[in-house]
Amino acid sequence: MSPAIRQKFVVGNWKMYTNAADARRLAKAVVDGMGAQERVSVTLCPPFPYLALVGEILEGSRVALGAQNLYPEKEGPFTGEVSPTMLLELGCKYVILGHSERRHKLGESDAFVNQKVRVALAAGLDVILCVGETLEQRNANQTEALLDRQLTCGLADVPADTLTRLSIAYEPVWAIGNLEHHATPQQAEEAHTVIRRRFAQMFGKKSAQALAIQYGGSVKPDNAAALFCRHGVDGALIGGASLIADQFLAIVRAGINASQTEEKSSSMPQLTKPVA
Ligand code: PEP
Repeated sequence: MSPAIRQKFVVGNWKMYTNAADARRLAKAVVDGMGAQERVSVTLCPPFPYLALVGEILEGSRVALGAQNLYPEKEGPFTGEVSPTMLLELGCKYVILGHSERRHKLGESDAFVNQKVRVALAAGLDVILCVGETLEQRNANQTEALLDRQLTCGLADVPADTLTRLSIAYEPVWAIGNLEHHATPQQAEEAHTVIRRRFAQMFGKKSAQALAIQYGGSVKPDNAAALFCRHGVDGALIGGASLIADQFLAIVRAGINASQTEEKSSSMPQLTKPVA
């Protein structure tokens, strides 16, 4: 598959952190710190109760609003749940689905994640689908099989004309919020290659080339640059570091630098034969 330049995509997943005042401060600091750059697409995903107030701060800026979850029905007797239409009404463009904390702590199955993906895309939301193996699965050499399963099930019956509104976040479960175990840039690149290959089998090479695949799992300012310069690593889904504006902005800057380097090297003449 020939290399393609895709815009880097950096997303902050605030999980169940912040309060109203912190959410306001954090969103404002990100908007102010972003300036007018267009190289990296940036999205913030606050907890449900702060979507409206963060949405107001992001309005008119280059930072998009995303949600961390949804329920796959338009409305109904689903106490405590939030529908895609409600998220759209609040100004959400994106929704994170299939996060490992929901799969593993709340028991979400591949089939349920798939239902959410299809309903979200049909409603007009852009989906960030999270996939990734546990440490046991990696140690048992099951990473590829697991990614295959999560993609095959999670993307079953997704209409081809919605694929441009889909991105994948590769998040090895063992690297999330973990200061001892990090995925190396090499491991991230290998997993992204597996994901893009499987996506190409499912939806064709053209869709796979256009697909943004983010890495997620303890991305920090000091490892972001090494990850972003890897082939097929198109950005990051960030938990912990997205709660500290300076760290999040430093990761965005690493994305901008990586994009500039990619642009430069793609405009250099390509050698078709090895130099003797
Ligand atoms: C996440 O929860 O999606 C995540 C990647 O978290 P962290 O950056 O804290 O590992």
